[in-house]
This record gives sequence, C-alpha cells and structure tokens, in this order.
Amino acid sequence: MVVVMAAEASEADVQAVVTLVETAGGEAFVSRGVSRTVVGLVGDVERFGTLNLRGLPGVRDVIRISVPYKLVSRENHPQRSVVRVGGVPIGPDTMTLIAGPCAVETPEQTLGAAQMAQAAGATLLRGGAFKPRTSPYAFQGLGEKGLRILAEVREETGMPIVTEVVDARDVELVASYADMLQVGTRNMQNFALLQAVGGAGRPVMLKRGFNATIEEWLMAAEYIAQRGNLDIVLCERGIRTFEKATRNTLDISAVPVAQKLSHLPVIIDPSHSGGHRELVLPLTRAAIAVGADGVIIDVHPHPEQALCDGPQALVNGDLRELAKTVRELPPLVNRVLTQA
Ligand code: PEP
Ligand code: MN
Repeated sequence: MVVVMAAEASEADVQAVVTLVETAGGEAFVSRGVSRTVVGLVGDVERFGTLNLRGLPGVRDVIRISVPYKLVSRENHPQRSVVRVGGVPIGPDTMTLIAGPCAVETPEQTLGAAQMAQAAGATLLRGGAFKPRTSPYAFQGLGEKGLRILAEVREETGMPIVTEVVDARDVELVASYADMLQVGTRNMQNFALLQAVGGAGRPVMLKRGFNATIEEWLMAAEYIAQRGNLDIVLCERGIRTFEKATRNTLDISAVPVAQKLSHLPVIIDPSHSGGHRELVLPLTRAAIAVGADGVIIDVHPHPEQALCDGPQALVNGDLRELAKTVRELPPLVNRVLTQA
C-alpha cells in the first residue's frame, strides 16, 4: 500500500501517517521526491484498510497494490504512459527510433552518425560520453568533452540526446547536457545512481540488467520513480544465457510482460543484444512485431575505426533497409513512426 501526500502536506502530516501505521504494527518508508512525498507501507494490508488513512490531513491518495513495485505498476496506473524526450514521444501509439554511435569519439564521427540516424528516421540521438567498459584498458569515453560534442550536434541536427551516466557523482553534469539519461545494464542495481537520476529532472532510460529478472528491473525503476520521477523508459537489451552465438540473448517476451506489469514504455536495443551488424535488422523487425515502443540502434560512419562496438554498428549501406523497416512495419501493429 502507498500513501501519496498532497504537495502542501506538512512534515507533521507525514509523521502522523507514519505514527498511525507503526501503532498498527506496520512499517512506513517515507520518500521525499522532488514534487511529492510518498509513504510506502509494509505489513497487514487489511489492518491498514481500517485506519482511514485517506481521511488524515495532507493525504492525497491511498493506493492498494499487490506487487512489490508500486509507482511503476500498471495496477496503479492502467493507462500506458507516454514519456516525452525533448518533445519526442515514446509510448503506446508510436514507434520511436533512437540511433547514433555507441560512443562519442570526434565531432565529425558524431555528426556523421547523427545524420545517418536522421536519414533512417531517428528522432532521438544516442551516444555515450561516459562509457561503462568491461576492461579498464578499453576506451572509457570522452567525458564532458563528449557531452559538449553531443550538444553541438543537437544544435546542428535538432535531435534531442540520450546519453549514459555511470556514476551518481556525474548525474548533475550529464543532466545539464542530456535530454534523457541512460542507466546501463551494469548499473541497473546501482541504487545510489538510480536515486540520483530520480532527482535529476530528466527522463531516464533504464536498461535491463543482463542478469536481472523482469521483477528486479521493475524494482530498479521503482527506485527512480520513488524520487518523484516517473518519466522512465525501460529498455530490454538482452540477457546472459548459455548461448554464445549472440552477444546477449534478446528476451523478446520481456516486452509484452513488462508492458502488462508496468505502465512505462518499453523499447528494445537490437544492437547490444545481437552484437553483430547482420542481426540488427532482423531483431528490429522482431521488436516492432512484438510491440516495442521504440528501438535504440548503433550506427557509425566508419565502424572499422570505431573505438567501441564497431561490429554491431549499422553502416550507410544498411540505412535504406532500416528506414523501410521502421516506416512500414509499425502500421501493421497500429503504430506510426515518431516524426521529428
Ligand atoms: C550502450 O548502450 O552503449 C551500453 C553500454 O549498453 P548496455 O548498458 O546495454 O551494455
Ligand atoms: Mn555499446
């Protein structure tokens, strides 16, 4: 059960809820978000039902929920949500293409990739300035210099930018440039980072941990929501299985399952799941067919020179087919490609 406090509720109002719940033998967890305070209740729900919490001063709503994640659950919010990124919608009626380089390397490479992305129908630009790499010797990203390049390319192309933040200490810096913050697979359960992006005032794309269940993924989203930020897009990017032919195993069924359990948009990353260029288009078709609200795809003007993930980047020769796929398939599942 969750008690949502009114914006004007006082500290004493919050305390009164906590005291009443504790007196009834329950536990109350207060989270103070940017725009609202939410009190999560743990204990005997039937007993809580008799407390008339809704009648207490400063209480706006009391929501009874049977799943462990509350704010992101569809039970709490039956209508599927639309998340807007710099004005671009990601949601149930559209199919949004996000594309760009895995990593920002140079201004020319980033602009080149952005133009490729746009030519294929992308309305949002991806590109990592802070890169989470398995090896400490691999290219770690350009940091703030990369963010400045992204901002210049946004200026030039008009595309809002999606970029990763890997450390809670960098959230403010990255949020000052980004239109959407990306939390990567390796950080899905970095709870301090989730809380920090929850307070950053920017939409968040939360990738599924490669070893996470769908429930764990939704609990991670709940950490962000609990800080008052419900602008969250879930991204399925493949999970680790015994299979070695692909970089990760794309869990196609995660899309309808997550959409049933949560009101948040769900997109697919066919690049990081397949890990090979020739798998990206087939997996993109599967993503659209299964009802994903968007796809995020790596493109690179010269993948043979890429400092990160060259083998999975689409090249100029692939763009025509990508453009055709994202234009022609969505109407078959009652969607349209998001327009700029
Ligand atoms: C990425 O999108 O650049 C990335 C690092 O993805 P993931 O966290 O899914 O590996
Ligand atoms: Mn990558």
